[in-house]
Amino acid sequence: MVKKVTENVYLIEHEEAANNVIIIGKKGVVLVDTSLFPEKAKSIAKFVREFTMKNITLVFNTHYHPDHTFGNVVFDVPILAHELTRRKMEQFDSSYFRSLGIEYTEPKLPDVLFEDQFEYEDGLKILFVHGPGHTPDSSYVYIPSESVLITGDTVINDIHPEIVSDSNLNVWMKTLDTMPHAKHVIPGHGDFGSYESIEKMRDYIEKIRKLMNGELNPYELESDPNFINRKHAEMLEWGIKNLMTE
Ligand SMILES: [Zn+2]
Repeated sequence: MVKKVTENVYLIEHEEAANNVIIIGKKGVVLVDTSLFPEKAKSIAKFVREFTMKNITLVFNTHYHPDHTFGNVVFDVPILAHELTRRKMEQFDSSYFRSLGIEYTEPKLPDVLFEDQFEYEDGLKILFVHGPGHTPDSSYVYIPSESVLITGDTVINDIHPEIVSDSNLNVWMKTLDTMPHAKHVIPGHGDFGSYESIEKMRDYIEKIRKLMNGELNPYELESDPNFINRKHAEMLEWGIKNLMTE
């Protein structure tokens, strides 16, 4: 389903799978994340051509996770990402694919890399900023003229966030605290929302942090709307396990 966020920003939503976002510039279109499936990425490229009469000229990966990067293979344009995203993707081997239940194909690695921030201009200014926490390489996109923030998995709406073994809750909190106060926030999964999405995520991560430190009784979460109103409760249990085996 395609949802208009602002004049130049559209969210391509697929239920609970990773979001794809298109930013329509003057000459071309920037695609944020490429999904797990090359076929899906191909259909996005086709949709963009028909809908905007422009081609995708830049692809950006918010982080290395397969549901954000495996569609890279269908694009013959520069792929931008944080330098750690490329380094993590270089480690993908056949056993990694097997663990995901997917047949091995050579992943397409990002070839334009940045460390702290990357600025791109095509009629509108787009900032790509390193914002670790969910993973060490996580980055977000900020478009000041549209007041839009595209967060990758640093912010998740509607479902429980993915806390993985290389997540760092303190660093994650710091990133949420320093993200720009945008009017529209497009998360890595779930529907787009307002700045409140970031506040809710901050509350969620802070409570998990307290839980891990023994400062919060797990029973308190059973009546917390920020927890019970999110789908896939099993993700919470999985996330806590990941933090304990870190
Ligand atoms: Zn992720």
